[in-house]
Amino acid sequence: MNGKVWLVGAGPGDPELLTLKAVKALNQADVVMIDDLVNPAVLEHSPTARVVRVGKRGGCRSTPQEFIHRLMLRYARQGKCVVRLKGGDPCIFGRGGEEAEWLAERGIESELVNGITAGLAGATNCGVPLTLRGISRGVTLVTAHTQDDSSLNWGALAQSGTTLVVYMGVAKLADIREGLLAGGMTGAMPVAMIENASLPQQRECRSTLARMQADARAFELKSPAILVIGEVAAAEAILPMAQSA
Ligand code: SAH
Repeated sequence: MNGKVWLVGAGPGDPELLTLKAVKALNQADVVMIDDLVNPAVLEHSPTARVVRVGKRGGCRSTPQEFIHRLMLRYARQGKCVVRLKGGDPCIFGRGGEEAEWLAERGIESELVNGITAGLAGATNCGVPLTLRGISRGVTLVTAHTQDDSSLNWGALAQSGTTLVVYMGVAKLADIREGLLAGGMTGAMPVAMIENASLPQQRECRSTLARMQADARAFELKSPAILVIGEVAAAEAILPMAQSA
């Protein structure tokens, strides 16, 4: 009999931000396939599972997606309970849907388990409420990095009036700034750049749209980081700082 694949979000880094459902899946796992943005501390919930690292960091040595697919399939066909552990949420820039579909086409059952996505965790950990009555009526999650290098409609995003949360933006600050300014966003728009959200080494840099590139350079902002662009990212934090682990 075939096993099952759990496509599980491990959250942004802080192991206490795992869901109970993720812990349950980890407890049952025979094999855990772990991405490199996942904090290995969460493996304490899978003490006996075989652990396979399948990192795919942009720009670094990576495991081809096809290989990951085949490996999941092989273990599932051996009847194993496989946990595919991804950073944040499996369906936010995480290929969760893609992998579920690929498995379904081959008759393998899978289940997606939500995780807390980095953008939400990073903002909250810095006291930035992504929505705020009278200030921000919505949030847009976007990635600055695309496989085909196509560009986002930054003009439409600038006009949307929502808080923008940008993933994979560290190497694209110039494009983001130019696009939003050209779209009519003011250079004074507050920006929060949050590196290693929810981890003990979390750092945050408050800036504005006009200055963010220079400030990020001076700050030596590194990936993984998210950008929060909108009035709610103003330096005077509105929420009390969350206690990071
Ligand atoms: N599925 C993940 C996103 C994967 S894409 C999620 O839901 O969070 C990888 C990008 O996520 C990184 O380039 C960075 O922009 C962001 N990211 C992931 N973990 C992060 C962290 N701890 N702090 C800040 N950004 C993070």
